[in-house]
Amino acid sequence: KKIRKQEEMIKESMRKVKYKIAVLSGKGGVGKSFVTASLAFALAYMGKRVGVLDADIYGPSIPKMMGVPPGTVYGTEDGRLIPPTAPLGVKVLSVGLMLPQEDLPVIWRGPLSSSAIREMLAYAEWGELDYLLIDLPPGTGDEQLTIMQLIKDLTGVLIVTIPSDVSGVIVSKAVNFVRRLGANIIGIIENMSYFRCPDGSIHYIFGEGAGKKVAEKYNVRFLGEIPIDPRISRANDAGEPFFLKYPDSEASKAFLKIAGNV
Ligand code: ADP
Repeated sequence: KKIRKQEEMIKESMRKVKYKIAVLSGKGGVGKSFVTASLAFALAYMGKRVGVLDADIYGPSIPKMMGVPPGTVYGTEDGRLIPPTAPLGVKVLSVGLMLPQEDLPVIWRGPLSSSAIREMLAYAEWGELDYLLIDLPPGTGDEQLTIMQLIKDLTGVLIVTIPSDVSGVIVSKAVNFVRRLGANIIGIIENMSYFRCPDGSIHYIFGEGAGKKVAEKYNVRFLGEIPIDPRISRANDAGEPFFLKYPDSEASKAFLKIAGNV
């Protein structure tokens, strides 16, 4: 009964969100959270009203990457959650924001974690949004499925990959996972595609064109390539939003282009 009520509340609040987009990757460490954060800023920069739900409870890195300090979620008297705002007014909710200490591991098991996400979604006060980006936990299992099913009229799914992923079965698995769910694939974003040396030469460290190829194979849109840039991991580790710190970087320009296409 409680679950049904929460699902009703989610439906109600999702009605005020125009586009609901889940961000998925076949495995961890490909930069899914970084892509989610940067895309959110790029959309906000274009004047959209944006929210980010960090559903990656095992490694909630969104708050740090977006410059939102822990302990800043406010609860109202009637139990609603007010998401804190990152720069450019992006609203952010994450289990990471509710942990008293940054270095506490989340040792919830699957079913418990999806009920935590359901509760966050049910009680969140997003207000009117153009975009809600949902950073899913890495992988294609029950957890991702449950979270995606919580949002009944999901607009679609963005798949984040790296070139060395693509040659294997990982992206194919992600594509098939989304299709089996009957959800729409908005497109594939390839992260860590290449490295540009100071002399301007481009090096395809993990191989060239793999993301495009797999997009063609599955007949989905290829949305763009994000280069490897040491400033990205440095900014992320320092808790400074990369997109805002280096708006003229190749990576940030790529995100702006992608934002115009989702
Ligand atoms: P995921 O969410 O897929 O687990 P993250 O977004 O947490 O991955 O990124 C993993 C690590 O790689 C982080 O330390 C991040 O700063 C770094 N990173 C992500 N994308 C890039 C990139 N294009 N260039 C350099 N470092 C990157």
